[in-house]
Amino acid sequence: MPKFKLLCDRLLQDGVITPAQIYQPGEPPPQWLELVHQPDYVRAYREGHLDAKAQRRIGLPWSPALVQRTSTAVGGTILTAKLALEYGLACNTAGGTHHAFPNYGAGFCIFNDLAIAARVLQHHGRVKRLLILDLDVHQGDGTAWIFRQDDSVFTFSMHCADNFPARKQISDLDVALPCGLEDGAYLRCLAQYLPDLLSQVKPDLVLYDAGVDPHRDDRLGKLSLTNTGLYNRDLLVLDSCIVAAYPVACVIGGGYSETMEDLVFRHSLLHRAASAVFQHRRL
Ligand SMILES: [Zn+2]
Repeated sequence: MPKFKLLCDRLLQDGVITPAQIYQPGEPPPQWLELVHQPDYVRAYREGHLDAKAQRRIGLPWSPALVQRTSTAVGGTILTAKLALEYGLACNTAGGTHHAFPNYGAGFCIFNDLAIAARVLQHHGRVKRLLILDLDVHQGDGTAWIFRQDDSVFTFSMHCADNFPARKQISDLDVALPCGLEDGAYLRCLAQYLPDLLSQVKPDLVLYDAGVDPHRDDRLGKLSLTNTGLYNRDLLVLDSCIVAAYPVACVIGGGYSETMEDLVFRHSLLHRAASAVFQHRRL
């Protein structure tokens, strides 16, 4: 998974960010992972003892490097959330592993960074209410299940109806979109939900999963957004949050493209939109 480093390199190269804007996370202690995940699962994964079936469900070959990478990505989302509380807006260059459940991983997701960040910040008394705004093309099923009986975290998922996971969970609000939806209809749909969502939930922090797999050329998505559509989606989300003074922490979510260069550019649209909003609103 070289895309995470390449994304950071590209953002620096294109002048979207300066080195001073980069923060490096550490690995979170297992106790933080265990605010969401079962200790047996955390230990088995970290030590490489998961059985073959559980490994296949995750879909990534186990290695010590993957353990370190996946833990660091969770640390990144926690750090992003803390920075968002401080500055109003912050973006991870990884994260969005929303298919992970407390006792198993699935769909390339091992630990649910969104759920862990929410629980860690609540546990430390930094926030009470959160909104998880998940616009990855796949339903945020793990996140929905984790918070299904928790009124302090509102889960919103807007995804393609006819896509993984086959068995959907129930978010606080699900918007299932038809295959092939294009920029205009997608953005109108989002604009219809976003204002009420923010004003009704009134979150202390928004966690935004900006998956780029709704792109028309994505190998696993089934929607038809363009790069411009994705950029305008991110602008709409970030500007709506910032104007209403809701801090927003972003993760990059999923993206599956033919070439690494296209994929890295698509993920960079989030940071480009964030930079534009940050400068425009003079945060
Ligand atoms: Zn996805």
